[in-house]
Amino acid sequence: MKYISTRGAIEPISFSQAVMMGLASDGGLLLPEKLINVDERQLDEWGRLDYPSLAHEIISLFSGDIDQDVLKELIDVSYSTFDVEEVTPLVQKGQLYVLELFHGPTLAFKDVALQFLGNLFSHLLKEQNSYMNILGATSGDTGSAAIYGVKGKDNIDIFILHPHGRVSKMQALQMTTVADKNCFNLAIKGTFDDCQAIVKTIFNDLEFKERYRLGAINSINWARVLAQVVYYVYAALKLRGQGHERVSFSVPTGNFGDIFAGYVAKVLVEPLIGKLILATNENNILTRFVVEGVYERGRVVQTISPSMDIQIASNFERYLYYLFNQDPERVKKAMSKFDSQGVIRFSKEKIKQARKDFSSYSIDQKETMDTIGSFYREFGYVCDPHTAVGIAAANRYLSDNAETTPEGPVVCLATAHPCKFPEAVEKAIGRPVDIPEKIRGLEKLPQRYEVMPPDVERVKEYVERNGIYK
Ligand SMILES: *Cc1c(COP(=O)(O)O)cnc(C)c1O
Repeated sequence: MKYISTRGAIEPISFSQAVMMGLASDGGLLLPEKLINVDERQLDEWGRLDYPSLAHEIISLFSGDIDQDVLKELIDVSYSTFDVEEVTPLVQKGQLYVLELFHGPTLAFKDVALQFLGNLFSHLLKEQNSYMNILGATSGDTGSAAIYGVKGKDNIDIFILHPHGRVSKMQALQMTTVADKNCFNLAIKGTFDDCQAIVKTIFNDLEFKERYRLGAINSINWARVLAQVVYYVYAALKLRGQGHERVSFSVPTGNFGDIFAGYVAKVLVEPLIGKLILATNENNILTRFVVEGVYERGRVVQTISPSMDIQIASNFERYLYYLFNQDPERVKKAMSKFDSQGVIRFSKEKIKQARKDFSSYSIDQKETMDTIGSFYREFGYVCDPHTAVGIAAANRYLSDNAETTPEGPVVCLATAHPCKFPEAVEKAIGRPVDIPEKIRGLEKLPQRYEVMPPDVERVKEYVERNGIYK
């Protein structure tokens, strides 16, 4: 399988090259030359596999240039860090199913992709006798998942910038208590936007980027999307085994990464997956796209589901490519319009097409809190605020479609463990949240981080002093 750019200006490249490139060098996003659809017989076979074996089957379809035995090993190692054998267990709560994606080392779904990406980076760098300094900004979850993905790897150093005092206590502890010498936390005296601006500026210094072989961990890396395709297929096949020939998914969405993985999965196992329910919080640019056909930047509102407090969905361009019938010229035009005017308007025909794939609901914070509370009272099940946004959207979808036939049962993706957002959850359920064994006692461990002003030069200096350079 070769990879191309949504903006059409790179020669087709291999999977390994696509993983190392991250963002396409023409400014677009990388995609496989074609999406794959498998037949019934394949689905029957896949239905008998455990999670790592299914992951191997799916990922190998898209990564022909990686040795199959090596790939199997990378996948097995990546998912051995999860605390349940099933990796992503599916539980039924009333008429909904909850797919728990938070059993990895940092208790958020980003582990599913970043455990794999860390091992894949390490393998490719060894093969090329090379190294990488990962530089990234985090508002909380991505930073710790990325650190846990690469900690202890000898050809990778990682530098994560977070806004000092503005991430939750648990999130800070998860990042700063990692003792491995290749992990560096920079607590920036500023906001998340300051952190992101610094990272962006440094990546634009091409000489510096080349010298330190800077690597990115943001959700535009194709390998992250690919790893996430697996759990959609896993859940759909599991329910198929129980007699459901079609299922829908409700996905709490920020950067459109997770739900784009759902789109790839939908094509892969057609017709098993029905609707993708795109659930947003008050930052609802994507809901306005599906409902009104207008993709327009708004102001970021801070909510109790902070990992979805995003107005520009970096993976949206991947979907645009398919919506525009794989025409890179149209993608380019639309994206440049969005850059200059902050808006893309879609024709009736395109809106209709998008609504075949997606339904969308924007859930405000009150409804999110009410959902955490009612789900707890009804089923004794505690969900985090991001998951609750998805559950609320699923309930609305089911009631909107009660008269017609909804497209199978709805699986809600549970993207974080509730203990990561204790303030909101405790308020909603009226009691403290249980803390899982593996993160108890983090506050007793020594913390390592460097407090720094929001100054590009200081961050560069720090990378020069501590990073790998050969
Ligand atoms: C990152 C994140 C999301 C949003 O995922 P996207 O791929 O950005 O759409 C949802 N929930 C949690 C807990 C997250 O960390």
